[in-house]
Amino acid sequence: MTDLEKVVCRRLKPGGGGVNAAIYSAAGPTLEVATKKRARTLSPGKAVVVPLPSSSPLYSREGVTHVVHVLGPNMNPQRPNHLNGDYDEGCRILQNAYSSLFESFISLVGEQSKNKNLHSEKLKTCNYIDTKQTNHFSSDPVIKRECAYEDGSSKKCKGTIEPGDSKVIPHKSAKKMGAEKAWGSWAQALYNIAVHPEKHKNDTFEVTDDVVVLNDAYPKAKKHILVLARLEGLDRLADVSQEHLHLLRTMHGVGINWAKKFLQDDESLIFRLGYHSVPSMRQLHLHVISQDFDSPHLKNKKHWNSFNTAFFLDSVDVIEEVSKNGKASLGGDDRLLSMELRCNRCRSAHPNIPRLKSHIRNCQAAFPAKLLEGDQLIQATN
Ligand code: AMP
Repeated sequence: MTDLEKVVCRRLKPGGGGVNAAIYSAAGPTLEVATKKRARTLSPGKAVVVPLPSSSPLYSREGVTHVVHVLGPNMNPQRPNHLNGDYDEGCRILQNAYSSLFESFISLVGEQSKNKNLHSEKLKTCNYIDTKQTNHFSSDPVIKRECAYEDGSSKKCKGTIEPGDSKVIPHKSAKKMGAEKAWGSWAQALYNIAVHPEKHKNDTFEVTDDVVVLNDAYPKAKKHILVLARLEGLDRLADVSQEHLHLLRTMHGVGINWAKKFLQDDESLIFRLGYHSVPSMRQLHLHVISQDFDSPHLKNKKHWNSFNTAFFLDSVDVIEEVSKNGKASLGGDDRLLSMELRCNRCRSAHPNIPRLKSHIRNCQAAFPAKLLEGDQLIQATN
């Protein structure tokens, strides 16, 4: 460590209002103890890897195994020991910070793949560069990306813990998928309804041996219902194989019947049936959603894009793929959720949700040919 680094290195501690505080808060007090064992201070541009104790909620709930602390350059003139506008030095330190971060990550992956008991896919770290110091450089913390996009989960991300959030319900498929795919307790609501519909009689309006039908609790359109598969272990589309083809067809048929019922009451509605490629809630569920997207619950880009990009997989396409290939291709990942906002009819782009909503209220353009030519849209004339 150089003399300069000795002066500017920072104490590793919880606090601040940003990512650092959020990670410490999510990980609980064990992270502070574990961090102190590894290092008490850190120099700009350097990284320190802290193994997360299994007692940390971030480990048990989310499967995070390590936290990598990284310190960026201090460009903030309000703070002591700042770089006094020296951008060359700032860039050099930032480069070192990212290099240290990725080198730490690579060495962790290497260690884990050596360990036969742990598959490298289980590795999930919370990496961040302390941007309180940098101000002029942004970071993309993994922990933010983990925030799901639905109302229940986004509340959790903001720190509003839902009742019963303090424990993870252990389940077969979480074990099968490894810690990375353990579902938080807020994501279990649909699973609980599918397994015990008799306890949720007020919420459901059709229950059979195969499916449960209910209103989406945070509807993103005038009519938005969910058809839940009841089969245990079928958490999401990625779990679906050829053997589930009959169930997929049953879910589709049930969804179509409900869409047709709703059309009898309001023939202006147009429905689309499909799955989110990366669902936020556990237990395979089909969305049956009217294409007006007229709802106060549709609040942000992620909500819109989850139904209006390739993130939304039409039920008819899923059935066709599974019958041909034995599985659905999950083309869309989380990046689709942050794409620009485009009208679902004329495809015009809009800068924000209020402007998009005011446009779609009046847009009468035809739907894209892909939707019109297939059987993706269910409307009164069908
Ligand atoms: P997905 O992103 O495909 O997992 O969608 C989950 C859906 O479940 C979202 O549309 C949520 O609004 C909805 N949802 C969340 N919690 C509940 C609940 N307790 N009952 C009914 N729907 C819910």
